[in-house]
Amino acid sequence: MFRSLFISISKADWARRMIMSWKFAWRAARRFVAGDKLEDGIEAAQNLNQKNINTTLDLLGEQTETLEQAEKATQSILEMLEAIQAAQVRSNVSVKLTQLGLKLDKQICADNVQKILELAKKYNNFVRIDMEDAACVDDTIGVFKEMRVNKGYENVGIVLQAYLYRTVDDLAKLMEIPARIRLCKGAYKEPADVAFPKKKDVDANYDRAVKLMLDSALKAGAPTLSPDGRIPPIPCIASHDENRINYAIKYAKQIGLPNDAIEFQMLYGIRRDIQSKLAEQGYHVRIYVPFGTEWYAYNMRRLAERPANLWFFLSNFFKK
Ligand SMILES: Cc1cc2nc3c(=O)[nH]c(=O)nc-3n(C[C@H](O)[C@H](O)[C@H](O)COP(=O)(O)OP(=O)(O)OC[C@H]3O[C@@H](n4cnc5c(N)ncnc54)[C@H](O)[C@@H]3O)c2cc1C
Repeated sequence: MFRSLFISISKADWARRMIMSWKFAWRAARRFVAGDKLEDGIEAAQNLNQKNINTTLDLLGEQTETLEQAEKATQSILEMLEAIQAAQVRSNVSVKLTQLGLKLDKQICADNVQKILELAKKYNNFVRIDMEDAACVDDTIGVFKEMRVNKGYENVGIVLQAYLYRTVDDLAKLMEIPARIRLCKGAYKEPADVAFPKKKDVDANYDRAVKLMLDSALKAGAPTLSPDGRIPPIPCIASHDENRINYAIKYAKQIGLPNDAIEFQMLYGIRRDIQSKLAEQGYHVRIYVPFGTEWYAYNMRRLAERPANLWFFLSNFFKK
């Protein structure tokens, strides 16, 4: 109920305009967002790199309404890749296809993705395609395959969401490539005919998918993280849930998959304790670092994930 309400609000334009006009809302958003400028993202990445943690930078923004906006977002992502290269940070980039025009014109969106991949390739960097709501899954996988298989870009990966019934089947097909996968639970509001409504079923499906990913990574020769920290291994476990993380560690040990061939990913500002603990134990950790002015929808999803975050959000009203 709480989650549904906040995810609905995350899509409402009236709420976006109202909440983004509140100064305290931006103060609260800073918990999950590195800042509003590219330099803020780069600085956050440098700070994490010093702790032996890699990053993926995300220019906030989604559901672009015009092709001009999609083109502008593409240019900004190209600038992000230039800045990563200039600063020599151990970071790749994450992109949302609706920001690049997926819902306006699929071919133009694919062309935008290709421009990004081409520059990333020049710098030996990697681009992860985030997964959005269920209505986008087929097209997102379609653009990914077009780039990865038909155009032969090896520096692209995709995200799958364990809450969807279809995910284990999608994963099995993508592992035939084999694709580099970030597995998350899923952050959108989906109906019971496409997604598991109960957390325990999402968790069980997550473990099922982890098992399949780790087995496939082993079969593919267990490729490891690149020495510059930019190209991730095949399986990336994106969760702050210790039970999911521990399951992945245990299963990797059981089948003999080396630690180097697996990566743990978490979101900026969430469970920093586990982020540091895993990095100290020698596991590869990558943090998703969002920045930019379009922080509204991303932050509402973070609020939706945890009722306690609402009190954190409201407490910022009283801070100077
Ligand atoms: C690197 C990364 C990339 C992601 N990319 C995508 C994507 O492309 N598409 C997509 O749909 N989703 C994405 N997500 C979000 C994901 O789907 C989940 O919504 C989110 O990670 C919460 O699920 P969880 O696995 O942490 O498990 P949960 O069971 O939700 O949480 C486990 C524990 O983590 C902590 N926690 C989780 N969320 C919060 C929060 N918001 N605030 C404070 N503490 C919290 C709490 O301690 C909680 O008990 C991504 C997540 C990560 C880590």
